[in-house]
Amino acid sequence: MKWLAGVAALTTASVLATPAPPAAQQTRHARSSTAAKSQPAIPWQSCGAGSALRLSGLRRSQGALLPLEVKSDSPLNDLKGEAANRALSFWPSATSANAPASAPHIYQSLIGIDLDQKPGSYDLSVEATQTAGGSPLACQAKFEVTDGHYKVERLNVAPKFVEPTPEDLKLAQDQTARLRAIFATVTPEKLWQGKFRMPIQGATSFKNFGTRRVLNGEPSSPHTGVDVGAVRGTPIHATQRGRVVLAEPLYFSGNTVVLDHGLGIYTLYGHMESMPVKVGDTVEAGQIIGKVGSTGRVTGPHLHWGLSISGARVNALDLLNLR
Ligand SMILES: [Zn+2]
Repeated sequence: MKWLAGVAALTTASVLATPAPPAAQQTRHARSSTAAKSQPAIPWQSCGAGSALRLSGLRRSQGALLPLEVKSDSPLNDLKGEAANRALSFWPSATSANAPASAPHIYQSLIGIDLDQKPGSYDLSVEATQTAGGSPLACQAKFEVTDGHYKVERLNVAPKFVEPTPEDLKLAQDQTARLRAIFATVTPEKLWQGKFRMPIQGATSFKNFGTRRVLNGEPSSPHTGVDVGAVRGTPIHATQRGRVVLAEPLYFSGNTVVLDHGLGIYTLYGHMESMPVKVGDTVEAGQIIGKVGSTGRVTGPHLHWGLSISGARVNALDLLNLR
């Protein structure tokens, strides 16, 4: 069952038998979003020299986004950070641009908590220098990662249905390695602006994020995207402005488009029937980048929608809650 290691490694794996709708998962997502909104505001924590840091929450589950802000009396240079051993990218808040000169400068960032991040307490560190006087600032905080309680499916199927040929296995592994290299690359430019949007208009069915499959007793990869239900041929819109960095058929996810939104944020769209974009294209938010299909290893048409932030595999639906 060596090939399972290949499946386990595949970032976009969207494998084999599609299970019954895990309604609980959708509820979990909706609940966590609501809970996040109703939590009391986390206080600002001083970083010295007229600056401060604020997390949007003190805990998040595996596979979730944790936004944070840094404010400062004067503009910051070389603002960087690290959370759970992943580098953070910052950008100036849009509201900051229209604020009066006396208002603090606000910078935003996103911590992507990988689907496989072990539950526990993690460190966040931020550092920068201020342009006025060049004084350095630094601060640390802690946040907690909780268990995502994702569904585990145990399937027993005839090996011939789950074992790809050695050629297919090699192909899938090579594609995995390429995707990892793409997701590990941070484009320093922020290509998006404003809110992220749902790629399928009016979508109501969101399944399988984080689901783990155990095939014939062998654990395989978690399902790293959210499967958005839609009929064949439904237009798929870019969730935000970005650059096309991959547009080709892949073994597991079929016709696949990956958009680089800059600052380490990538979205992936899989199983497309068609994809009228090519590598190097810049697409605008909402632009049609493909149509729903069932290419790759699937049992029926849907959009596999993935999100990677600094290489962390995160639920793309969390993008829609960002302000
Ligand atoms: Zn999928």
